[in-house]
Amino acid sequence: MELRWDRLGWQDIDSLIKRGYDSVILPVGTIEAHGVIPLGTDNFIPETMAERIAEQTKSLIAPTVNYGITRTLMTYPGSLTVSPPTFQAYITEILMSMVSVGMKKLIVLNGHGGQFDELKAAAFDVFEKTSAKVAVIHWWVLCQDLVEKHYGTSGGHAAVDETAAIIACAPETVQKDKYDPEMLYYVRPGTNVYPNPSTVLIFKENTGELNFDEKTANSYFDDVCETVKGFIQETFKRWDQ
Ligand SMILES: [Zn+2]
Repeated sequence: MELRWDRLGWQDIDSLIKRGYDSVILPVGTIEAHGVIPLGTDNFIPETMAERIAEQTKSLIAPTVNYGITRTLMTYPGSLTVSPPTFQAYITEILMSMVSVGMKKLIVLNGHGGQFDELKAAAFDVFEKTSAKVAVIHWWVLCQDLVEKHYGTSGGHAAVDETAAIIACAPETVQKDKYDPEMLYYVRPGTNVYPNPSTVLIFKENTGELNFDEKTANSYFDDVCETVKGFIQETFKRWDQ
């Protein structure tokens, strides 16, 4: 069943809302350098996830917001950014607009770590000003235990977890031949470095090493989608009570 907002006609939205499709998933990311995976990594992952879980959560899939707040990797070729106030206002207005056409439950599915505060503020603003219920999910944080389960290590930026997700979502974009374990850069607690000296960032020493096995990547990503879906279903159930 087609649930992608931009592929439906206005008459479809009207009949879907009448049939109880009053929730929507908004994938959000940014354009940013990512080790051996593409600049659009943070967009492809939540977008694919939304396509996998929409039906079972009875949600529409909003067009992805591809431009976000890129900071520490801004000097790498191809990284793009918008300012935090612009991003926050844009997300807020998109959500408000969805509420105005009849959406009652809004899920912001985020793929990028540089915009937590802005998404949180936008979500609260919409919740406060309308009757809508809003949840923000940072998928890799919600699913951090699954990296340990499938790979026996911790994740990071463009590290084993994000690379696995891209192997599952867009395998043709992975540039395995460009990988060198030297790319892993440990971000030490208590440091802020601009620009980050690498695009593959780990937050615990000696973790995050990339693994290109497709089978493991697919089972990891299946598990991630199940976890995100479970969280959304549970939240909807409780909101509806
Ligand atoms: Zn990323």
